This record gives sequence, C-alpha cells and structure tokens, in this order.
Amino acid sequence: MKAQDISREKSAELFEKAKKYFPGGVNSPVRAFKSVYGTPLFIEKGDKAHLWDADGNEFIDFCCSWGPLILGHNHPAIREAVQAQLGKGLSFGAPTLLENELAELILSNNKYIEKIRFVSSGTEAVMSAIRLARGYTKRDKIVKFEGCYHGHSDSLLVKAGSGLVTFGETSSAGVPKAFADETIVISLNDKKALEQVFVDFKDQIAAVIIEGVPANNGLLIQDKEYIHFLREITKAHGTLLIFDEVITGFRLGFEGAAKYYDIQPDIITYGKIIGGGMPVGAYGASAEIMCNISPDGAVYQAGTLSGNPVAMAAGIAALQVLAQPGFYEKLEKTTQQFVEEIRSFVTEKNYEVKIFTVGSIFWFAFTAQEKIQSAEQIDPASMEKYKVMHRELLNRGIYFGPSGYEVGFISAAHTEEDLNKAVTAIKEALMVVFEG
Ligand SMILES: *Cc1c(COP(=O)(O)O)cnc(C)c1O
Repeated sequence: MKAQDISREKSAELFEKAKKYFPGGVNSPVRAFKSVYGTPLFIEKGDKAHLWDADGNEFIDFCCSWGPLILGHNHPAIREAVQAQLGKGLSFGAPTLLENELAELILSNNKYIEKIRFVSSGTEAVMSAIRLARGYTKRDKIVKFEGCYHGHSDSLLVKAGSGLVTFGETSSAGVPKAFADETIVISLNDKKALEQVFVDFKDQIAAVIIEGVPANNGLLIQDKEYIHFLREITKAHGTLLIFDEVITGFRLGFEGAAKYYDIQPDIITYGKIIGGGMPVGAYGASAEIMCNISPDGAVYQAGTLSGNPVAMAAGIAALQVLAQPGFYEKLEKTTQQFVEEIRSFVTEKNYEVKIFTVGSIFWFAFTAQEKIQSAEQIDPASMEKYKVMHRELLNRGIYFGPSGYEVGFISAAHTEEDLNKAVTAIKEALMVVFEG
C-alpha cells in the first residue's frame, strides 16, 4: 500500500531559494529530482549509514554521496584525522608528508601502478589521463563506450551516462565538434565494434577508456573474457587501455577492477573513495608512462589544491581501514545477503525486476532480461517504475539516488538492522510498484 508522504516543507523552501542561486537549484545536476517525485531533500547531517534532512526525516542511505562513503558518514578515524590536520593549516601549495603517506599506502598495496599523481576530482583525473595517453602515444583519437561516464571534460561528454540520460540527452551542448570528432563511441560488450574501430582508425587511437565496471548508466557488468579481449586488441595496436576506476577503485577491492579482472591496464584513474569523503582524484601508471608528466615530461598537469593536506589526511584514514584483511570479503558477503533476500522475494512474486550486483554495488533494473550489458538494452520506459519505487522508499525512510540509471552502494556502516529494515521497505515499495 502506498505510504504516506513525508514532510518536505523545509527542503521545498530551501529549494525555492536555491533555484534563484543555482541553475536548476543544484550544484550538480544528478542531485535534482527531475526524474523522481517531489523536491530534492536538503541534507543536514549524516552518521554511519543514516541521513537526516532539513525537515528532520531520517533515512538509511544507499547513495553514500554517490560512492565515496564506503565507511559511512562521520567515521571516527576520518573525522579525527581531519580535525588533527585542521589546526595545522588547510593548504600550503608546497609538498607535505601526507602526500607521501597516502601514495605509499596505495602503491605498496596495488601492483597495477608504480607512480601516482593526486588531483582534486575524478573529472580532473580522467582528463589528465587522456592527455597523458595522447602525449605518450602521439595520437589524438580516443575510444569510449556508450553509457560510460568519465567526468565532464569536453572529450568525454559524448554518450555519457546517467546525468545526461536522465534528462533525455546523450551528449552535452558546448562541446566543439572538432573535439567530439576525436572521440569515437562504441557499444559495450561488442567485440565486432571494437575490431572495426581498429580497422577504421588504425594507428590513430591513443587510448580506449572504460569504467572498471560500468556503473553510471545502470550496472553493466561485462564478461571477463570481453575485458581480456579489450586488453589484447589495445596492446596489439599500441593503444593504451585506461581503466576509469573512479567508482570501482577501492570499492571492488583495494586494487579495484584491475585485480577483479586480473588485468594490467596502462593508466588507472581514481576518485570518490580515495579521499574518504573529501575532494581527491588520482591517476597512476607505470613509472615509464608517468615520467611523461611535467615536471619530468612534456605533458602538463597541475593543481593549486592538489594533494590538499586535509583531503590527504581523510584519504589516509579511510584507506587504512580498507587495507585491513577481510574488509572487502565481509562487505561483499553482506551485500550478497541483502540482494539475495530481495531476489527471492521478487522471484516468488514473479515481479519483472532484476537486481544486478558486483562487490558492494547494486542496481535495480525493471526488466525481464537476464543480463544487461550495454546502455542500449535499458528501456527508458522502465524508469517510470523506478520513480514510484523511489517515492515509496523515501516515504519509508530509505534514501536511493534520484534516478533509475544510478546504482546503490552498501557501506561498512550499514548494520544488520539497517539492512533488514531496508529489505522490508523495498519489498513493500515493489508491491506498490507492481500491484498499486
Ligand atoms: C564520478 C565519476 C567520475 C567523475 O568524478 P568527479 O569527482 O565527479 O569529477 C569519473 N568517472 C567515473 C567512472 C565516475 O563514476
């Protein structure tokens, strides 16, 4: 049965004001509730797996700030590390010990990269990785996959996932045609398309970029064999393979998707989790590739606040927890149990919905298909069902991202009680979706 609507009075008031200040009332389009019911909720605070909004409503959070909060909100070790740094200064524009510490923690636990460069966002990390690939190979073209999101830099905003697709667009205005021409977009999970692109643009392709596991336009889990094929064909053509692990890095495991597939990409990008909730991004590769970055090499990349000490402190505190033995195994097991409970309910009810999952990521797809591995397989009409589920979940104290193209995340802060509550709410919400 449809639940009673929560009060959004204060949030609605704040949103009215915000609309005067910001385009669409938000500072990132995915925060707008354009494809779900009601106004966006203004969040006041978070603790562990819980959120509170301006109207005092409490939610169990499955958005987790879109991925970074793998340890939940207000984690004591991260909070203390940030507080300790605050008294020493916010930024120096000069090297600090903290940068070394975070780099050491990452590099000594990750066999896929030898050198790293810290930046301030995932977008910056990927933009820099692309420039590095072009500088290294002395080629211009890049290949990306339909539905993969790699941040909002010009070359990569072509057929780029949820934020655009939610608003009925697949590419951004304002990207010069000359830039877009250098970006070739092909479908995921299509070996023939990949072979063809290397026939059509032989010796011109600097890099192929793919999300570790595409998770910005639904969760499009690729076959391992396909990813290995991608590795082989890029290598054969002197093209670099970039793994964009802004979501999967430190999520599928400390070594991310590279380890998950057991593949050596040429460049890997990180973001989200790496800063423990603070703005950090990074890209890494072999020492041989990384020495092309300035001041060692000719590929320029810089940042006033790069390696920011407060952000580094947060990242170190977070990654120290993640590097502990058994962390990921436990989180994955918890996620499996959560997903299995919902799966057995929908099977019993014969509802047309699938829950795809990898690591601690999950995605609800309103479909009869057993697998969804490319953006084209997602039926836009199915988003109407998500819209109803989203409303019913909010009204039952469960916070999911405001788009059916978005995945959900389980954090280590989600307790058994949180997850049991969520399972009950999800079952009820699905009953409303399918039975009214
Ligand atoms: C979020 C995301 C980005 C962009 O990161 P920002 O920090 O939002 O700039 C890039 N690539 C992937 C795979 C992402 O999920």
